[in-house]
Amino acid sequence: MGWYRAREFEFDPRVCRGVHVGGCVAGRRWPRPSDWDVEAHAHNTDADPWSGWICVASERSLFTASRRPTRVMVHEYAHLLAPNSRHGAAWQEAITELGYPSEAEWHRPRPVRRTSRRRAA
Ligand SMILES: [Zn+2]
Ligand SMILES: [Zn+2]
Repeated sequence: MGWYRAREFEFDPRVCRGVHVGGCVAGRRWPRPSDWDVEAHAHNTDADPWSGWICVASERSLFTASRRPTRVMVHEYAHLLAPNSRHGAAWQEAITELGYPSEAEWHRPRPVRRTSRRRAA
């Protein structure tokens, strides 16, 4: 448990109020056993009194070996830059500007490819 300042990630402190590690800053029961695969989340809705906070399950998700914010952290920071949005156009634009266009691509809805079930006779 602990928390970090936006500056430690070179994030804008007016956008990111803090990074909370080891649970959810709002006291929400998280992570639950069912979402251990979710490494982090951002509070980015106006209705949320904790808006501007990023919650991270484990310290391992914070920094790369060269002390840069991880892809996970940048992903969550993009959520703060695009408030009240999930992975829509505003978020995709933010993550692309932060240097991860491939991350935006991953969350872009993909056309469902219909495979023909008809067998050759
Ligand atoms: Zn939280
Ligand atoms: Zn996300």
